[in-house]
Amino acid sequence: MLTVSTRVIPFHQASIEADDIEAVVGVLRSGWLTTGARTREFEKAFSQYVESPHAVALSSCTAALHLALAAIGLREGDEVILPTMTFSSTSQVVLYFKARPVFVDCLPNSFQMDPNAVERAITSATRAIIVVHFAGGPADLDSILDLARRHGLKVIEDAAHALPSRYKGKMIGSFSDITCFSFYATKTLTTGEGGMATTASGEYADRIRLLSLHGISKDAYKRYTAEGTWRYEILDVGYKYNMTDMQAALGLSQLAKCDAMREKRELLAREYTSALSAFDAFECPVVEENIQHAWHLFVLQVNLPAWSISRDHVIDELKQRGVLTSVHFIPLHTHPLYRERMGYRLGQFPNAERHFERAISLPLFPAMTREDSQHVIEALADLAKIHRR
Ligand SMILES: *Cc1c(COP(=O)(O)O)cnc(C)c1O
Repeated sequence: MLTVSTRVIPFHQASIEADDIEAVVGVLRSGWLTTGARTREFEKAFSQYVESPHAVALSSCTAALHLALAAIGLREGDEVILPTMTFSSTSQVVLYFKARPVFVDCLPNSFQMDPNAVERAITSATRAIIVVHFAGGPADLDSILDLARRHGLKVIEDAAHALPSRYKGKMIGSFSDITCFSFYATKTLTTGEGGMATTASGEYADRIRLLSLHGISKDAYKRYTAEGTWRYEILDVGYKYNMTDMQAALGLSQLAKCDAMREKRELLAREYTSALSAFDAFECPVVEENIQHAWHLFVLQVNLPAWSISRDHVIDELKQRGVLTSVHFIPLHTHPLYRERMGYRLGQFPNAERHFERAISLPLFPAMTREDSQHVIEALADLAKIHRR
């Protein structure tokens, strides 16, 4: 008889401790809630952390990607190359400009964007490449940056999974034209909702800052302070993408623990890998040489020929055993928007489709205990035995 487990391991749980709560309460007590001194402090600390000269705090990574494309001057009819193996935002921001997202396949083992596929996708209309660091393990940046240099293309990184990640010793956030981070509730550092754009270009940083707050002149956020003035000028069509000081205070206290939280996730990832590699029913993530993986996600692959049930069924059975999981990602080209309106079709990106059919993202967050990870491993091992083909 099937026993329903009482223990439930969530897919994700934010690490919010007493100091995080105190930091936010401090802002609430201060009387200044929106963009202000805390936000500037968070930007400064973040830019130092990722070793990038400029950082602009925003309301989300989606906002950062949108303004990054605005900053490079993307126009209607331009093409932007990006992986099909990503989240909706990476591509939707391209559509905001009536530009065309040109999808490429991922590599069969790392699930990162395939640089050869990028090269084949370049046309005379290509303006930019958006690199996604899938799961937190950096993509092949050297090859992509080299391609971009040779073809005169801009590179924007969607680093929603890549905090803190390193590529050949350097922090992600310090490589390309503009790098975009997410502080969404499930990400490795959270402000509830939030994002950051980092860049070495003062021009891009100024442009992103201007567009993030109504297109009004420099230091618009100070207009209600003693230091500021009520007078301002509207310089361009802007958006409402600023970060609040409540979010920034949480971001600052989380940033101080960012490395320690990564180490915790890495220990869990190692534990998963050493236990699950022993089964031919599973394939564990491949970690490339010369990188630091952020371990935002641990994406397990089920080796389908070894199973008598589908991946979806494995997910359901894990849930019955109190293990909540997710799937990253449903390839963009398989969604109705892109099939019906843009002519993408099933079968077009076989590596991404194969990955999608086999992927399960396991619970991975710093507060997981050894009992939690053992429970996940035992549930998987049990299922692999019961449902062996
Ligand atoms: C979460 C995520 C985003 C969007 O981040 P928001 O801060 O929620 O806008 C973008 N790209 C990828 C790959 C993501 O996982």
